[in-house]
Amino acid sequence: MFGALAKSYYAEKNNLSPEDIVVVSVMPCTAKKFEAYRPEMAGDVDYVLTTRELARMIKMAGIDMTSLEETEFDSFMGVSSGAADIFGASGGVMEAALRTAFELITGEKLENLDFEAVRGTTGIKETEVQIGELKLKAAVANGLANVRKLMEKIKGGEEYHFVELMACPGGCLGGGGQPIPTNAEIREERLKAIYEIDKNKKLRNSHENPYIKKLYDDYLGEQGGHKAHGLLHTHYIPRGL
Ligand code: SF4
Repeated sequence: MFGALAKSYYAEKNNLSPEDIVVVSVMPCTAKKFEAYRPEMAGDVDYVLTTRELARMIKMAGIDMTSLEETEFDSFMGVSSGAADIFGASGGVMEAALRTAFELITGEKLENLDFEAVRGTTGIKETEVQIGELKLKAAVANGLANVRKLMEKIKGGEEYHFVELMACPGGCLGGGGQPIPTNAEIREERLKAIYEIDKNKKLRNSHENPYIKKLYDDYLGEQGGHKAHGLLHTHYIPRGL
């Protein structure tokens, strides 16, 4: 998504040609290297580094990360919400979407933003959330075996309004590109850190992010509209194993 927006929205706002922009994504995920080359992505991302590779490069350059001063992101689209941070944990994408869905559908402020039922490293988590008239049934799976179990359940006729599936144990925090060693204890620490970051953020909802609002107002237009669909959505085909 960021690659697609960098080469369209960012390019347009800064009078740049997309060919002159090189997008490097730093990811917890080795599969993103494949994703960058998918024809459906049409060159949105040029290079992918895993977090492990970047950490190694930082060490090789002799940079001591712990002594660096914290700074803000660069300003263009440089504000992130707690909802974005929790994407790294299993259940985080679901929780971020539930926060936004609740407020946009009901028009009411969500008092407690923490959807505890979808948090944690349990393989399959299920919950029901009352959103206005709708009792939303949701399921979250992490780790391939659990993803398969949940998919079989759905194939067997179980119905949900919303499912989140993460291939890696614990979600992206346990991703194949993350620093090693990774074990259950380390994943638990990463999980705690992610929710701590979210808790301490003033901005915790994606739909309140001023840059996201501006992006839709100035460029994408309607949510889920033609332009947003073209730039932010994809489709999948069977590729075999
Ligand atoms: S869960 Fe794993 S495979 Fe899926 S996006 Fe995250 S790191 Fe990549």
